[in-house]
Amino acid sequence: MLSNLAVRDIETLVHPYTNLATHRQNGPLVLESGKGVYVYDSAGKEYIEGMAGLWCTALGYSNQELIETAYEQMKKLPFTHIFGGRSHDPAIELAEKLKEIAPVPISKVFYGASGSDANDTQVKIVWYMNNALGRPQKKKIISRLKGYHGVTVASASLTGLPNNHIDFDLPLPGIMHTSCPHHYRFAEPGESEQDYSSRLAAELEEMILREGPDTVAAFIAEPVMGAGGAITPPEGYFEKINAVLAKYDILFISDEVITGFGRTGKMFGTETYGMNADTISLAKQITSAYFPLSAVMMNEKVYEVLVDQSRKIGTFGHGNTYAGHPVGCAVAVKTLEIYQREKIVDHVNKVAPAFLRRLDKLAEHPLVGEARGVGLIGGAELVKDKQTKASFEAKNGVAAKAVAYALEEGFITRAMGDRLAFCPPLVISEAEIEEMFNRCERALDKTLNWAKAEGLL
Ligand code: PMP
Repeated sequence: MLSNLAVRDIETLVHPYTNLATHRQNGPLVLESGKGVYVYDSAGKEYIEGMAGLWCTALGYSNQELIETAYEQMKKLPFTHIFGGRSHDPAIELAEKLKEIAPVPISKVFYGASGSDANDTQVKIVWYMNNALGRPQKKKIISRLKGYHGVTVASASLTGLPNNHIDFDLPLPGIMHTSCPHHYRFAEPGESEQDYSSRLAAELEEMILREGPDTVAAFIAEPVMGAGGAITPPEGYFEKINAVLAKYDILFISDEVITGFGRTGKMFGTETYGMNADTISLAKQITSAYFPLSAVMMNEKVYEVLVDQSRKIGTFGHGNTYAGHPVGCAVAVKTLEIYQREKIVDHVNKVAPAFLRRLDKLAEHPLVGEARGVGLIGGAELVKDKQTKASFEAKNGVAAKAVAYALEEGFITRAMGDRLAFCPPLVISEAEIEEMFNRCERALDKTLNWAKAEGLL
């Protein structure tokens, strides 16, 4: 029986990223409150938020300091924009802090309100910059299959997932995708991680040469692929990619929307993997998701071109109303202050061994072919046959079933194809990590029994 709220939901909402047909029958999961790493639904059932919402609620669900910061800023100055040279204290302070902690030399910060608009900004800057430099043919951007960069027209084009393209008339021309660096799934039998990385770098170089290096402007990558399946890169991957990009004067955009602020065991994934990024996209954990805010950090080389272009044609004609929203910036400043005061990166490194040990142990389960992660992010791939790595058929919905059983057990995870993601709030304790995986294992056992009963194994 659907609750009154569920019926009202079905009658009124088009949900993002939802199978709209099945939603009409099943209705929503309505969450009502949260505390620490736990959230509670409208019936009072408790869940461990194993996805930190959407990879974002780093400080958990009841951080009073963030709430009070937002309230105080709203009382003082709920809104002012930063168009036309206007400014405010939180916007300036946040940019200073970001420059201070940035993993590569950063000159300036440009604000937005979502990860998607940050990546649209990246694309527009790349195009604008190359026009300014008098090389209008250098505009193509290379992304990766299974990369996730958002849903706006340009960022959805960068995203390398079929759902974001089919019937949306995307990707835009000039945006192309190279292979997904997933060793377990795509390496040749017996191919080492280093050899596989070399092969992928060579493939990227071939793509650049085929297109013409003078037409390829930028490459974008997440340090750890998120929505594509929580996929950590193979050994040596970014080192080899760095070399190819440098050889052809191709800008490197690091999409740190998920990995920024401690997720991988360093403040930024760019640092964890030694990516020679020129620009970086940030969102989500920048405010621990207590307020929508995103940022593009750019180096001096990029910034100087923008200034030069303003000298020639005037106003830099880009930016949205909520860019640098004072409440978002104030909350972000406080979030960064808490990360530093509470030594969040040290905490991640303290609890990560427990997280990775339990993730590793999941690979012993009959349904799990691969389980791998870094810091406090990881993915587990469900397979029909561990020996051959054969997948289940998509129509069987095995991962979706596992997610449903996980909910029953009080654990929120997310299915991306056949992969389950693990990305809890960074403040999670070791005991909570153990409990999260206990619940996950019980859900996998139920999924196994179900799969057997359905004759899928
Ligand atoms: N980039 C990455 C790496 C992301 O994970 C996401 C969101 N999951 C985005 C960009 C888009 O962010 P938003 O949903 O805030 O537009």
